[in-house]
Amino acid sequence: MKESVFTDEENKIFNNKNKIMKTERDLINKTVIKESPYTNIEFMFEIRYTSPKGRNSYYKSKVFDEKHLRNSLIAIKEANHREILIKRERSKLSHSLRYDILKRDGFRCQICGKTANDGIKLEVDHIKPVSKGGKTKKGNLRALCNICNSGKTDKYSEHGIN
Ligand SMILES: [Zn+2]
Repeated sequence: MKESVFTDEENKIFNNKNKIMKTERDLINKTVIKESPYTNIEFMFEIRYTSPKGRNSYYKSKVFDEKHLRNSLIAIKEANHREILIKRERSKLSHSLRYDILKRDGFRCQICGKTANDGIKLEVDHIKPVSKGGKTKKGNLRALCNICNSGKTDKYSEHGIN
């Protein structure tokens, strides 16, 4: 008998993620598999609260179903894929390319102008951050000191000075 409506790969994602998703998955597996022919089951979680003196109360509800869970899965898969692409792009910054950029920029921070003699450490910065689609290419790289670079993080403006 089938034990899960999800693939092994999908189950692996659930096991690495939060408890609510796991609970959702288990509920879906239980009902869809064991209580067929129901194939589209929704779960509704309700929270009702009234304060002791009755002054405050609130109500919250959320519906989960297989479609909701599958959409969450797609979002997670896409995020994982993006992460892999970002890592791959960053790994293209070889020691040789790093040296070429520092040399081209005169071993000077391109924002504050400091050099290693001023006690800073030079780093190679992606002007358009990799997380925003920037590539590891000479035109998108520059020397920055560790202080300017740590202030920059992944700030980037399409039309501004970066
Ligand atoms: Zn600097």
